[in-house]
Amino acid sequence: MARRLREGMRENDTVARLGGDEFLILLPSIESVHHVIAVVQNIKTILQPVFRIGNHEIYITCSIGVSVYPDDSKHLEELLRDADTAMYHAKNCGRNNFQFFTTEMNLAVQRQMRLVSLLSQSLEKECFFLNYQPQIDLLTGRMIGVEALLRWQTPELGLVSPAEFIPVTESSGLICAIGDWVLTAACQQGRVWLQQGCLLHVAVNLSSIQFHQHNLVSKVANILAETGFPAHLLELEITEGIMLADKNSVLTTLGELKALGVHISIDDFGTGYSSLSYLKRMPIDKIKIDQSFVRDLADDPNDAAIVKAIIAMTHGLNLDVIAEGVETEAQLSFLLSRQCHKAQGYYFSKPVSAEAISELWHDKSC
Ligand code: C2E
Ligand code: MG
Ligand code: MG
Repeated sequence: MARRLREGMRENDTVARLGGDEFLILLPSIESVHHVIAVVQNIKTILQPVFRIGNHEIYITCSIGVSVYPDDSKHLEELLRDADTAMYHAKNCGRNNFQFFTTEMNLAVQRQMRLVSLLSQSLEKECFFLNYQPQIDLLTGRMIGVEALLRWQTPELGLVSPAEFIPVTESSGLICAIGDWVLTAACQQGRVWLQQGCLLHVAVNLSSIQFHQHNLVSKVANILAETGFPAHLLELEITEGIMLADKNSVLTTLGELKALGVHISIDDFGTGYSSLSYLKRMPIDKIKIDQSFVRDLADDPNDAAIVKAIIAMTHGLNLDVIAEGVETEAQLSFLLSRQCHKAQGYYFSKPVSAEAISELWHDKSC
């Protein structure tokens, strides 16, 4: 059992046998509760196959208690005690399951598992749809593109925010299938708009997990071919976190996407990985200034300085720039005065349906 546990964990995890039938696993690099669920499920899978001892075939189950640093405690002894308490709770709940130490954590985990189960049926049940948010050229006032934003609505939960369900699709691996659906639906819609005479760029968010799929480029190429949407009108939004992976493979993938004719933008710029060197090495077209800097632009001199610097940098590097989350006239005039000529935000429009985008386009062109 110790061997199986050790082989199933990552290199920087610690597996120890405390005595008797008790094991302790220390996971130092857990980013969120999603990862804990994945590890716990992995442990169950590892222990499932039969153990053969002499002529005996033995099946075992395990009860797992989880405590989390620093939420439950900052002290090792207390964390161990909490994990132990949670494990006895797991045993009392019928064994062969896991429990977190705190009720809040258990509730959060239950909700996660419910979301995973509902999300996995949602493509079939057609519970996803896209909204589109206009992107505006500030010099002409015209809508030049849209960002496709995924919406998820189920009879059980109603409308769930992407901030809640996107991380769950990422940790459960569902993001790839859902992401394919988003890309296809957005390109199909882009093609319909073109046929209606609306010349719009369509931006689609790409999670880093999607980005690192080995077949991403051929997938994008196939979707473009199948939908007949021109590659130069498709923009893929990636985040700075993508640059944390092997630089050469990121460079290759971006190069191949660019070769298709697709545009690449950096979403939420300034909030993630802080090295700027990738900007000169990677084939990137556009930077999206994160809304957290735009929000207090008019009142906070620090935000104003950051936005000013980002805009100047994009000009120097010959990159396109767009501000996200523009809500007020004051933000707009600041951006214009600093030569940022593209923006997106509630000031112009919230994300709306595809039909509403066609109407907006035709209203403006009259
Ligand atoms: P994002 O890509 O940065 O998208 C912008 C978010 O800001 C959207 O939230 C949009 O509704 C919101 N927003 C736009 N203008 C304003 C404004 O003026 N004020 C404020 N307060 N908010 C504004 P939403 O739709 O809730 O999406 C949240 C995040 O979920 C997105 O952030 C994106 O990271 C992710 N997401 C959405 N759709 C997809 C998708 O299809 N795939 C992936 N991987 N991620 C997605
Ligand atoms: Mg985005
Ligand atoms: Mg953003």
